[in-house]
Amino acid sequence: MTATTFETHEVVNQPPPQPSVNLYESDPILIGALEGVLDSTVEVALGDYGKFWGSAEARELGRMANLHGPALKPTDPFGHRVDQVEFHPAYHALVRRGATAGLAVSLWDEEDETEKKRRHALRAARLMMAAQSECGHLFQLSSTSAALSVLTAAGDIGTEWLARALPRRYDHRFAPAADKAGITIGLGITEKQGTLPFIEPSTRATRDEETAGWTLTGHKWFLSAPQSDAFLVTAHAPEGASLFLVPRLRADGSVNAIRFVRLKDKLGNRSSATVEAEFADAEAIVVGTLGTGNEGLATILQHVRFDAAAMAVGVMRGALAQAVHHARHRAIAGEHLLDQPLMARVLADMTLDVAAATALTIRIAHAMDKAAEDDGEAAYARLVIPAAKYWITKTAIAVSAEALEAVGGNGYVEDHDLARPYRDAPGWALWGGPGNVLALDVLKTVEDGAEAFDAAVGEIAVDLDRQASTSADLIREAAQACIADQGSARILVEQIALTAAAAALHRFAPRPITDAFVDTRLSGPWRASYGMLDARFDARGIVDYAFPAS
Ligand SMILES: Cc1cc2nc3c(=O)[nH]c(=O)nc-3n(C[C@H](O)[C@H](O)[C@H](O)COP(=O)(O)OP(=O)(O)OC[C@H]3O[C@@H](n4cnc5c(N)ncnc54)[C@H](O)[C@@H]3O)c2cc1C
Repeated sequence: MTATTFETHEVVNQPPPQPSVNLYESDPILIGALEGVLDSTVEVALGDYGKFWGSAEARELGRMANLHGPALKPTDPFGHRVDQVEFHPAYHALVRRGATAGLAVSLWDEEDETEKKRRHALRAARLMMAAQSECGHLFQLSSTSAALSVLTAAGDIGTEWLARALPRRYDHRFAPAADKAGITIGLGITEKQGTLPFIEPSTRATRDEETAGWTLTGHKWFLSAPQSDAFLVTAHAPEGASLFLVPRLRADGSVNAIRFVRLKDKLGNRSSATVEAEFADAEAIVVGTLGTGNEGLATILQHVRFDAAAMAVGVMRGALAQAVHHARHRAIAGEHLLDQPLMARVLADMTLDVAAATALTIRIAHAMDKAAEDDGEAAYARLVIPAAKYWITKTAIAVSAEALEAVGGNGYVEDHDLARPYRDAPGWALWGGPGNVLALDVLKTVEDGAEAFDAAVGEIAVDLDRQASTSADLIREAAQACIADQGSARILVEQIALTAAAAALHRFAPRPITDAFVDTRLSGPWRASYGMLDARFDARGIVDYAFPAS
């Protein structure tokens, strides 16, 4: 009897695995946008960071953390409530990296002089790079940073919790915060009946007249990073909407009355945990002045929204990098896809959005770094953050879908790295407020004060040289229309975001990229897909500049 042998077929015309790449050194738009705040110390640190997050190791950790997502552990083996969430070690490895790099505390660490006056810009660069490999783990770090934005202004309670976060250590043990090497804080805002914009929370805060302590009763419908050591929560007190800090464990080490009803089975960001939670007389500490919860919430939301935009930039750049890699190696009809005019235009068109989103995010970060001393920059950040979050997070969805298509059928297969950004992208559009909520927020800024609005528009226009007055006029006209007709607010928001993005490119990027963006986004007709560049623009040059071949 003759044995049948099966020979492995030679695999031809498939791209090699994505190479390790330094995400900092290979991103000229990011480097250009940071240029004014770089010195050798931070450049080395960003280079090291970019090397890790662009490595095969980081990608593999990201893959494992998503493949083996979190599991809810409501009780211990003896039936006692513990309400814990367990994670794969890969998830912890990712958070540890981010915590060490200061993603949770670098904005609030005044003793660290290295990043002084450029804290937002450098942190945004790190967020973008990490999100190119994996973004679910960033919820935990981003939430902590946003919570600290109000805690740091809240007296003793803030000082105590900031001190616990400052060591930049990730300690995922379920132990009292005071005994841990480092802590994280989640955000409990969203409720079932509706939350934004600024709807009174249904969670009730009650004060014990004898002890003067507070307890919370109610629920939160979405609570990410539930394994955190405390939650910053909105609740209704007799004085009105207020902010409270709810520790997981009480000071005596007992488990606080926070029940995790279930783990959300999310579409994307599957490495991270989001629960539905209930408070049953949970011990809580007042943060700030009672009745000023909405002001605090506005501050938190600006931070969450900015981070969401930065992480969405990472998602889209990571997805597009894979499509470009594929097009460089996959040949159809004897020619590599990137050398074919149609594919080159599609990828170049997407590159313009990625470049503009990168430049805009860092431009906003510079404004946040200057806001305390410069009213114009503060007004710019206030107006442009929701607009940028609107445009960037929506664009990340479009870019990740088109990148997937550029890779072909394999992009649709789960073990390819493109299904993940495609599923992750819409999460950033939702987190911290979806499109209409952002549009209403921009409208509120317009209505709140003509002076601040004019200052912000002036900051946008200043970089647009020849188009400055036309662009500023268009934004002002859209704002007027919007005051008369709330339903047109998205037109205003998109106009602000695209104009601010063009201005940021003018400041930080080479002329061919800026001109192509302005021509197609500010002056062009309605477009519903990528590939709308005409032959005047060097499509191949644009892609090769933004994604240098390694
Ligand atoms: C992955 C993920 C993680 C999250 N993590 C957290 C977390 O840690 N903590 C937390 O508190 N929340 C969290 N959320 C919740 C998130 O912030 C909310 O889902 C989001 O703010 C939308 O609120 P909602 O779901 O109540 O929708 P709704 O507010 O009901 O909005 C539904 C739709 O109505 C639109 N809309 C709302 N108001 C108006 C209006 N006046 N006019 C016109 N349209 C309007 C919205 O734009 C949206 O399209 C998370 C969500 C996701 C997806």
